[in-house]
Amino acid sequence: MPSCRFCSSPLKHTFVNLGMSPLCESVLPADKLNQMEPFFPLHAYVCDSCFLVQLEEYVSPAEIFTEYAYYSSYSDTWLKHAKSYTDLMTDQFKLGKHSQVIEVASNDGYLLQYFVEKGIPVLGIEPARNVAQVAFDKGIPTIVEFFDEKMARDLALQGKQADLLLGNNVLAQVPGINSFVRGMKIALKVQGIITMEFPHLVKLMEENQFDTIYHEHFSYFSFISVEKIFAGHGLVIFDVEELPTHGGSLRIYARHAENSTLPVSERAKELKKREEDAGLTRMDAYSAFSDKVKETKRKLLNLLIEIKERGKTIAGYGAPGKGNTLLNYCGIMTDFIDYTVDRNPYKHGRYTPGTHIPIFTTDKIQETKPDYIFILPWNLKEEIMKQNEFIREWGGKFIIPIPVPTVLN
Ligand SMILES: [Zn+2]
Repeated sequence: MPSCRFCSSPLKHTFVNLGMSPLCESVLPADKLNQMEPFFPLHAYVCDSCFLVQLEEYVSPAEIFTEYAYYSSYSDTWLKHAKSYTDLMTDQFKLGKHSQVIEVASNDGYLLQYFVEKGIPVLGIEPARNVAQVAFDKGIPTIVEFFDEKMARDLALQGKQADLLLGNNVLAQVPGINSFVRGMKIALKVQGIITMEFPHLVKLMEENQFDTIYHEHFSYFSFISVEKIFAGHGLVIFDVEELPTHGGSLRIYARHAENSTLPVSERAKELKKREEDAGLTRMDAYSAFSDKVKETKRKLLNLLIEIKERGKTIAGYGAPGKGNTLLNYCGIMTDFIDYTVDRNPYKHGRYTPGTHIPIFTTDKIQETKPDYIFILPWNLKEEIMKQNEFIREWGGKFIIPIPVPTVLN
């Protein structure tokens, strides 16, 4: 039986089982289309001791993240989010030329660039060499490696510790969560602050975001479970914000347990109480989720079948990780979606993993005038609908799959 990556209890309870799926970021070049693709189970469990929702580590991060196709800077919404975060942190924690900012999973420097503009010293840590290269080119110092306890010790020995240590959408992607969080404790100055953002499990459950479950995301956090994990390593979460990003995320603020200058905020206490009231410390709240997922699959397929029966055409928009969980779990291939488009040039001329839907530049939409655009990164639906308003000229409509499959004019 698998065991919990934080507390080692046996994992006896299924959260949702999405069957077998390929790695969601492994878009295929044309010459690989006729070869076998590895498929791995997408079976999420919930620990009945610490309530961490998790996948087993079927694939190591080295296989997933050393060449990665995700460049944060391709999303305008995400860049704006990063910019306003740097303004907020600089004001709130009085960061300046003498501060050190360290970002774990710094991607292409999408965020650190705004600290650099303010003259604040930064260090990025990013294991994907191709992505880190873009950060180097922008003049952002970056270590090309995975962050863990050992790296934190090495950095501390060189006198590098953080006044602000941040990581956005990385905590979920770490199989060895204990080494990672211990490392954060080591990499943090006595008065330093940690902020981390990750999708909120409560939103995933309430809004039916099952497609955010994929092999690259090993863990799915509630405030309650992340608080237990940080406490296990001498860190206190003293504040939390609820953000709209990625369909609903938490931004947690943590400090050393020994640093009592920052008291635990009312909104942190309030969120914890809200999660307890929602039943997140009981198993029955988790077991209802899986039925909701199966129902969504049936509704989405009904909608697509009805559209195809009328002889209409459907194009996809985006080829994000979450799209691939959805397409594979629902069995949606070129029988429903002719092609998809993406702004990331790395994906052009390639195919979605498992479902083999071709990926083109966004111009393809204007060229082929599809009747429907199926938006796969539904968390960016406003931005995408605005960029593609022109499809209304030929009566085009948008399909949004989550939380309930819907057609929008
Ligand atoms: Zn556990």
